[in-house]
Amino acid sequence: MAQIRLDNIRKSFGVLEVIKGVSLDIRKGEFMVFVGPSGCGKSTLLRLISGLEDISSGTLSFDGEAVNRFAPSKRGIAMVFQSYALYPHMTVFENMAFGMKLSGRSKEECNTRVEQAAGMLQLSPYLERLPRQLSGGQRQRVAIGRAIVRDPKVFLFDEPLSNLDAALRVATRLEIAKLHRSMHGTTMIYVTHDQVEAMTLADRICVLRDGVVEQVGTPLELYETPNSVFVAGFIGSPK
Ligand code: ADP
Ligand code: MG
Repeated sequence: MAQIRLDNIRKSFGVLEVIKGVSLDIRKGEFMVFVGPSGCGKSTLLRLISGLEDISSGTLSFDGEAVNRFAPSKRGIAMVFQSYALYPHMTVFENMAFGMKLSGRSKEECNTRVEQAAGMLQLSPYLERLPRQLSGGQRQRVAIGRAIVRDPKVFLFDEPLSNLDAALRVATRLEIAKLHRSMHGTTMIYVTHDQVEAMTLADRICVLRDGVVEQVGTPLELYETPNSVFVAGFIGSPK
């Protein structure tokens, strides 16, 4: 059974329909990448899955249960944005611990979880620093750490590397791949407009165009058998 099922999902802003009947199954533990040109609806789709935005029609199910009306906090999801959205007046430690404040965990458990996540992300030396005392790559890792400590079932990433320079993009991409391998069974849904990121990270890629799914498949399938010139052009294979 799909962990996340999108069934004919539509979303309009006023008269503008931006998601036009998307159906897709995402399996538990899968690394699913949404790619497509700017403005095709990738961020909107993530926001619908997270519950930050309400769908206009269709059914969104988690583990077979429709969640259309579930608040974001009830979906077991953590989202990492392209702008890191850290709290400027809080230390790295406090930023990472903040998301757990309402979870009812003990202080000791919160501390342990932050320390573990900091270790995974090579942030242990920086826990007492403020965000402005960090590099862009470190800030993005704090944002990822903040998501990890909440122990989500599903991670959503919206172009998390787009504010980083080229070298850091590669390093952080490898970090995210490692994270997926080390968090067995954690589903990741990752938005990018970068073909290399999509091809290297994805178990499956969903190519979006103007609010519609053009093709879904493994990187190899899309590369070898693109079903349109658009997909071929986007994935970089000759057709
Ligand atoms: P992408 O992430 O693929 O670049 P978006 O999902 O951000 O695309 O946007 C898809 C389309 O929906 C764009 O035309 C954008 O202007 C429009 N859009 C997104 N959010 C809103 C909103 N809150 N109100 C009105 N239009 C929006
Ligand atoms: Mg976007």
